[in-house]
Amino acid sequence: MKAIFLDRDGVINKYPGDGKYVTSWKEFHFLPKAKSALRKLHENDFKIFVVSNQAGVNKGLLSRQALDDITERMLNEIKKSKGEIKGVYYCTHRQEDNCSCRKPKAGLILGAQKKYHIDLKKTYFIGDTIRDVQTAKAAGCKAILLLSGKEKISNRKNWPLKPDHIFPSLYDSIEFILKKK
Ligand SMILES: [Mg+2]
Ligand SMILES: [Zn+2]
Repeated sequence: MKAIFLDRDGVINKYPGDGKYVTSWKEFHFLPKAKSALRKLHENDFKIFVVSNQAGVNKGLLSRQALDDITERMLNEIKKSKGEIKGVYYCTHRQEDNCSCRKPKAGLILGAQKKYHIDLKKTYFIGDTIRDVQTAKAAGCKAILLLSGKEKISNRKNWPLKPDHIFPSLYDSIEFILKKK
């Protein structure tokens, strides 16, 4: 099975800003060509998993129900544009909760890996933060960093580790992945 892991904010939808959360559907804005990228992946038989930290839930900034509503609408829009997400995994804990699922820990990825028997060494994890790159490495995935969200290339010298590839957007990274096959 060909699988791919994606972060959500800054990858699929617009990054809400440091310390901010998407708390309702009207704050969720798809990034340019993100839906086309998801369609292409689906057409090429990739199983897509979303892996996202949403500590706003445990901070009381949005309810679990509000988060689920956003997810449902997101999946609906993606389906309308002929894409398909196989699973959406959230960590809703705060850092101080010390859970095993909050990125950069690999808990969410390992959960999907067990359920679907994914070969992580052959699998890309695409995110917009260095924490996503750390998560990819913790899980044994290949790490792609996008510049469509939080991280800036000008900060490169401060990165504690390097992604395997860097692209401006999800669409660019997907073109690269599909060309490799
Ligand atoms: Mg992100
Ligand atoms: Zn967690």
